[in-house]
Amino acid sequence: MPDISSNKPYRIGRSRTGLGLFATKPIKKGTRIIRYFGRLLDCNKEKDDAVENKYLFHLTNRWTIDGSARENTARYINHSCRPNAESDVRPIKRRVYIRAIKNIAPGEEINYDYGTDYFKEYLKPIGCLCTACEKKRKKKRAEAKAEKQRLKAKAEKKARKATEKLAKEAEKQARKAREKAEQARKHAGRKPFNGAHWDGHGAFDVRAAGSGISPRASRGQRSERRVLA
Ligand SMILES: [Zn+2]
Repeated sequence: MPDISSNKPYRIGRSRTGLGLFATKPIKKGTRIIRYFGRLLDCNKEKDDAVENKYLFHLTNRWTIDGSARENTARYINHSCRPNAESDVRPIKRRVYIRAIKNIAPGEEINYDYGTDYFKEYLKPIGCLCTACEKKRKKKRAEAKAEKQRLKAKAEKKARKATEKLAKEAEKQARKAREKAEQARKHAGRKPFNGAHWDGHGAFDVRAAGSGISPRASRGQRSERRVLA
């Protein structure tokens, strides 16, 4: 096992995407954390070239490391689009190390960027689950939710305004109707009143209309009675 020391600063643990590698001690930026190792595949050999798994690390056009063996603890390191480590590739020596590019605190998951090819082939189709992408998705979801709420509020405001407009319109119509009725009543009430003045029997006529016994009570007088009552 090509561990850096027996005093490993990491352990395999449960991560959001399955298993992952976690720091157990502070790891300083620039530190080689672990070597990514495995059988060397020569793509010029048909048998080697036919090997297909998720742990192939391309060194050069010819050489690839098959890191699928369980002993290759580095294979547990998950991809991140915002990693705290990187792969340090030594093509001539045909070696790969994972090196911290940030100070990593105990408990933190160690990640490196698997690269565009891997991302396109394996991660993009299912959606990258790294913290950075998860955060991005969360933000997008929150934004979408806020936008939805904004649109809902807007629609509600519009509906409220429409209702208010309708209510105002109805009120206006009612007022108009009231005014019209008032006018009609005034108009109707004016005739006998004026008439009473003209013929000098206004008071009697109104009272008689009020008693309801006067055969002379006209429509207008009945109207007047209602106003007096
Ligand atoms: Zn990602």
